[in-house]
Amino acid sequence: MDIDQGTQTLMSKHQFTQVRHDVVKRKLQVIGKEQITPHMLRLRFQSKDLRGFVSPSPDDHIKILLPAQGDAPALMRDFTPRAWDVEAGTFTLDFALHPQGPAVEWARKAEIGDHLDIAGPRGSSVAPTDFDWYLLIGDATSLPAMGRRLESLPLETPVSIMALVAGREEELYLDSKGNRKFTWLHATGSADRDREILRTTFRALKLPPGEGFIWVAAEVSLARDAYRYMTDTLGHPKAWIKAAGYWSLGQADGGERIA
Ligand SMILES: Cc1cc2nc3c(=O)[nH]c(=O)nc-3n(C[C@H](O)[C@H](O)[C@H](O)COP(=O)(O)OP(=O)(O)OC[C@H]3O[C@@H](n4cnc5c(N)ncnc54)[C@H](O)[C@@H]3O)c2cc1C
Repeated sequence: MDIDQGTQTLMSKHQFTQVRHDVVKRKLQVIGKEQITPHMLRLRFQSKDLRGFVSPSPDDHIKILLPAQGDAPALMRDFTPRAWDVEAGTFTLDFALHPQGPAVEWARKAEIGDHLDIAGPRGSSVAPTDFDWYLLIGDATSLPAMGRRLESLPLETPVSIMALVAGREEELYLDSKGNRKFTWLHATGSADRDREILRTTFRALKLPPGEGFIWVAAEVSLARDAYRYMTDTLGHPKAWIKAAGYWSLGQADGGERIA
């Protein structure tokens, strides 16, 4: 891989750590179901298999292995381990409910006692917590990872959050204590209009002085748009931005790493 000198200096300043993990399959059993906002469903699980579970980065993901239907093969989808306690054997996943897909349908129908297998995380890319500021941009699917990121940073660290969600009640998902600035945007249901809303909001955005980390996770075309705006238009160093498509419009299992 070619890394120019400028990028190399930036990378050595704030150390990102890449960690590989052995992929372990674990069995979970549903012990709790809570509609925490109209579009966010929390499932709590118990498991005897959590020994050795680690997830050092807030944006780690595990695969959920959805039970096979008839002759069809089992399906896998990516989700963020929202919380876990190895000693207590508990595990939490938050599902951003959207109209239809095997993962959200499974979650909607899940009952206490139901089983779900998970695998991973396979790897973690851990961003340092020593930046002057953080900017998190995303949609409903990114909120679990944003929640973890907020919990992992000192309360005095300035964090700006720009999130596109279905409506005002979804805003309650993230804890607002600490040095946090929220820009909540409301999704229209049209990717083109949502992109325009994001672009208009970006145009009014001034990155704070100092060195910052930008994290983006949303529908893939919106996430790409945000990444390009932050790097090409605002000139944010590529070494200090991480972006991913968490889903793709019209495509099943459409997660994609951007940068
Ligand atoms: C690293 C990573 C971490 C993730 N963490 C979480 C998490 O913690 N919580 C969470 O809810 N999601 C998370 N996601 C997103 C989740 O994996 C996708 O939304 C996934 O497509 C859902 O699977 P499904 O079976 O419900 O729908 P799929 O079968 O994948 O898709 C069916 C249809 O629904 C559409 N669709 C998929 N997701 C959405 C959506 N969010 N809104 C509107 N339409 C959609 C697709 O375009 C497709 O047309 C994460 C994704 C990645 C890559």
